Amino acid sequence: MTNPSYPHLFEPLDLGFTTLKNRIFMASMHVRFELLGNRVERAAEFYAERARGGTALIVTGGYGPNPQGVIEAGADYLNSDDQVTEESKIPAAVHEAGGKIALQILHAGRYAKVDDPVGASSIPSPINPRKVRALTTDEVEKTIVDYVNCAALAKQAGYDGVEIMGSEGYLISTFCAESTNDRSDKWGGNFKNRIRFPVEIVRRVRERVGPNFIMLYRISALDLFEGGLTGDETAVLAQEIEKAGADILTTGIGWHESRIPTIAHMVPRGGWRHAARRIKESVSIPVAATNRINTPETGEALLNNGDADIVALGRQMLADPAFARKAETGRGDAINTCIGCNQACLDYIFSDRASTCLVNPFAGRELDISRQKSKLPKNIAVVGAGPAGMSAALTAAESGHTVTLYEGSAELGGQFNLAKRIPGKEDFDETIRYFKTRLTEEGVNIQMMTRPAAAELKAADYEHVVIATGVLPRNPDIPGADRENVINYVDALLGRKPVGQKVAIIGSGGIGFDVAEFVTSPHRHLPVPIDDFLAHWGIDKTHTSAGGMSTPTREAPARDVTMLQRTDARPGKSLGLTTGWVVRSELKSRGVRNITGATYERIDDDGLHIIVGGEQKVIPADTIIICAGQEPENSLYKELSGEGVTATVIGGAEKSADLDALRAIRQGTEVALAI
Ligand code: NAP
Ligand code: SF4
Repeated sequence: MTNPSYPHLFEPLDLGFTTLKNRIFMASMHVRFELLGNRVERAAEFYAERARGGTALIVTGGYGPNPQGVIEAGADYLNSDDQVTEESKIPAAVHEAGGKIALQILHAGRYAKVDDPVGASSIPSPINPRKVRALTTDEVEKTIVDYVNCAALAKQAGYDGVEIMGSEGYLISTFCAESTNDRSDKWGGNFKNRIRFPVEIVRRVRERVGPNFIMLYRISALDLFEGGLTGDETAVLAQEIEKAGADILTTGIGWHESRIPTIAHMVPRGGWRHAARRIKESVSIPVAATNRINTPETGEALLNNGDADIVALGRQMLADPAFARKAETGRGDAINTCIGCNQACLDYIFSDRASTCLVNPFAGRELDISRQKSKLPKNIAVVGAGPAGMSAALTAAESGHTVTLYEGSAELGGQFNLAKRIPGKEDFDETIRYFKTRLTEEGVNIQMMTRPAAAELKAADYEHVVIATGVLPRNPDIPGADRENVINYVDALLGRKPVGQKVAIIGSGGIGFDVAEFVTSPHRHLPVPIDDFLAHWGIDKTHTSAGGMSTPTREAPARDVTMLQRTDARPGKSLGLTTGWVVRSELKSRGVRNITGATYERIDDDGLHIIVGGEQKVIPADTIIICAGQEPENSLYKELSGEGVTATVIGGAEKSADLDALRAIRQGTEVALAI
């Protein structure tokens, strides 16, 4: 069955020797399953679930062609016959699930977190403190042999193909760019010499694996730094890779050291379409677009527009393994959308943990937790329909319990209704839509505008009550805080109270930064259009400049803002590891000032009076926005405990400190599974 709404997405892709059932691929992601144990079984189940979800072709995380090329010590590599039997479990599981799978060969080069990283040259990477050694000419030959050997072993293990990772600043990229290749042998110098390395790899892999084996090549469609390739050079590379025998070009955007956000929430959906299109116009083999493709509509539009032939989804496959099947069967509203937060995927990888997903705590934990039906279905109430309550209610219903969900306001979603107003965070609304759809599909009895009293819950005979009543904004005790122009973040974000031109924000946590972004944003309408995003970050859509970069166009900020906090800690230290730098640099460019170590004295007509460094100061402000954290709202839990009703309190209602949606959704899910 093909959904007429997405005719291009579900058109089969004929490669001559094999046909892919649709145009939806799973892009390679580093997920670090080796940390969780049972690496092969875990990966097999993880990929098989995505295949059952209708994905046409899955590309694994990167395998080093040799131990030196792994992304970090302990990561996967494939270089020996001994590994084939164990490795074959992964393609076997995917085939049984009706999918196809290619193994990605990634030599991390100077990004490798190993003792002796090697590169095209000894020019160090700004993001890896390790000293890098240039491969000798013999070692370059040997490395090509390792790629070929790895591809042959993948074929032996039953994979349907391989993807050669040629983007993001890993080894192959550093051969291609002049700024990272100062070699004087035949692998360096002019452009033809510099691209010889990837072209030879592709040519010799094809020679070894034969014609009936899918070969993808991930090309750096945009390097996104000043020493990178021009659009013309990238086009020539694409053509040479095609001639050398690749079947499909997938696209990578930006080297990891680039200072441009490429996948974070502020990147508009399909924001890199121009880069995929440039490659597609240069070659005759199919080209996959990537990055921030998280809805079937975005994918369909890219294909319909002729920007690409395939869409490669990475994090969206963590968020919802059944993306393709749901889109195809008209259940697009039931897709759990990746919100681009990076919090449980990339941020986990950068803090030595294995990836999962904020909106889907099951991702990567398929062997550990599953949505099994309860043997003892119960009658359950969940009070509060924020992220914690919605996830508890949904998981409980999926487990076979009868669930009533109470929400005191007119909207499901709790704090997500605030987050979705922040420029770039509009996708939080998709999470609310997902829960709304799924809660309805699972027959949850949703009682809106209802705040049940403890006695009512007791009288209704619920066997378990989950309290997810959330938080209340903290009101710090500052003289003058009761003035009209002192408002809290809820009123500011919902537009319930006016915000003037000169703003002081009390509190510099995640919400303080969100509010600063909200009030300084020059964009009146969301989402931010792609062209505005590209111009803002200085992306050259004409493909003429090196690395695809041009001069950024920065609009004037909407307001003058000072953010304050009492401690001396680095402002915004709680922001995401891989997104915080973007938010901080953005606010800096809008002139937002940060004051740390402040003591709040009073608020009066002159503004906010503080003492900082022993000196009295006044921050002139016509509006003071309080973002001073929250207190748990758990009064119902206390009352219920007195009534002898079995109850569990979760989310912010349990503990407001360090609360975020990741903990809320995970805890809601875990508590429901344990009932
Ligand atoms: P938060 O991160 O705990 O920050 C609260 C801020 O208020 C701090 O700057 C704190 O700094 C200040 N504060 C605390 N008590 C105060 C008091 N009595 N008087 C004056 N100032 C006080 O909380 P949040 O910003 O409300 O965020 C809530 C949760 O959501 C956090 O876990 C946060 O990480 C998460 N969140 C994350 C993001 C993200 O982008 N990752 C975005 C939004 C929210 P001082 O104590 O130094 O004054
Ligand atoms: Fe997407 Fe956030 Fe999940 Fe990562 S953690 S896959 S960015 S929703």
